[in-house]
Amino acid sequence: MTTDGQPTVNRQSMLMSYRCHYNKKAIMYNDFQKHLQQTLQEIKDAGLYKNERVIITPQSSGIKVATPSLEGRAGEGFAEQEVINFCANNYLGLADNKELIDAAKARMDARGYGMASVRFICGTQDTHKELERVISDFFGTEDTILYAACFDANGGLFEPLLTEEDAIISDALNHASIIDGVRLCKAVRYRYANGDMADLEAKLQEAQAQRFRIIATDGVFSMDGNVCPLDKIYELAKKYKALVMVDESHSAGVVGKTGHGVTELYDLRGKIEIITGTLGKAFGGSVGGFTTGKKEIIDLLRQRSRPYLFSNSIPPMIAAAGIKTFEILTRSNELQDRLHENTAYFVERMKAAGFDIKPTQSAICAVMLYDARLSQEFAAALQEEGIYVTGFYYPVVPKGQARIRVQVSAAHTREQLDKCIAAFIKIGTKLAVLK
Ligand SMILES: *Cc1c(COP(=O)(O)O)cnc(C)c1O
Repeated sequence: MTTDGQPTVNRQSMLMSYRCHYNKKAIMYNDFQKHLQQTLQEIKDAGLYKNERVIITPQSSGIKVATPSLEGRAGEGFAEQEVINFCANNYLGLADNKELIDAAKARMDARGYGMASVRFICGTQDTHKELERVISDFFGTEDTILYAACFDANGGLFEPLLTEEDAIISDALNHASIIDGVRLCKAVRYRYANGDMADLEAKLQEAQAQRFRIIATDGVFSMDGNVCPLDKIYELAKKYKALVMVDESHSAGVVGKTGHGVTELYDLRGKIEIITGTLGKAFGGSVGGFTTGKKEIIDLLRQRSRPYLFSNSIPPMIAAAGIKTFEILTRSNELQDRLHENTAYFVERMKAAGFDIKPTQSAICAVMLYDARLSQEFAAALQEEGIYVTGFYYPVVPKGQARIRVQVSAAHTREQLDKCIAAFIKIGTKLAVLK
């Protein structure tokens, strides 16, 4: 600065130097941009480019979608189409539940919109503590820690608990967030074939070389709908001195007579050391994740789990709706019963019609088509019939294992299920999947 407060460098030259700097950046971005464009093109050429499908109603069993692909009003932007939704994780139909919406609204009025803090600084309200207590009660565990998502719960689980002296033995079909969580941890990694207990036993024998061992598994595997054999896993864990971690994201609220998950199904309530789960599926479909289990494990996660220490607290309204969710599920078994009835009805009729359905013990029903192109054609034809599903193929599922995944909900009416089955039969006949 000069004595009269004017900058010594004149504005013109400063602007020049900014511009020069910016241009260099632009040139650098040119190369990177080309690289990105090429990568995106490769994804498109492989037929793997994902487009978001836009819904213009609340999430529910019946929704309205904006579909630029349907003839409709070409040139006028989007056409609207009413469809029955069979691809949401909205297993209990709670995503648009009035009681949850009211609970969220009331708590937003009482406790505000956001926390603007992580939990341990000033991001903990009574609502968060109450939700943690309620989740512990639901699973019969000692304590619970909340996260922004189950992706974070799994991402921040292993690294604080285990070192390079220890071992993680992970099912080959575990969710991406478990895989990432394991990657962030220095423990020795073992992988066993999906649900293969002989393979798990072999890996447990190898892992005797390490100090502590954790077996990590999904409760329900999302592409097939099969349940992990938790009873056998538990037996092997006892035999080979291992802890067990189960991710109940697709199983909690769904599996077990009262929807308490795989620990209910196998009568292992309170016996599994670590359970993770989400509020984003059966439990209301919003956001939020948790780890629940042994007191000392949860306590150490509160001290050292990075997504908990360095990421924002969930809003009080979400926590309040979470509390309400568990109240609804404990008050009555109506939703769980309806989900089980709906799933059994759907699977039975689809099998009777001649479809090849993967054995399922959840609300996920994989209709096997094997051929990737056929799965896409089939799903598109179903949408024209007003049935909203997704066709999956390699690399989401193994090569030659393409399928349509149908997710049944307690919110589906008998009429909606019948329409879906009829549409499957119509398209299945047309595309010669059914003989
Ligand atoms: C959906 C899912 C998650 C991620 O849950 P979010 O709360 O959406 O992050 C984690 N694990 C499994 C097994 C899941 O199915």
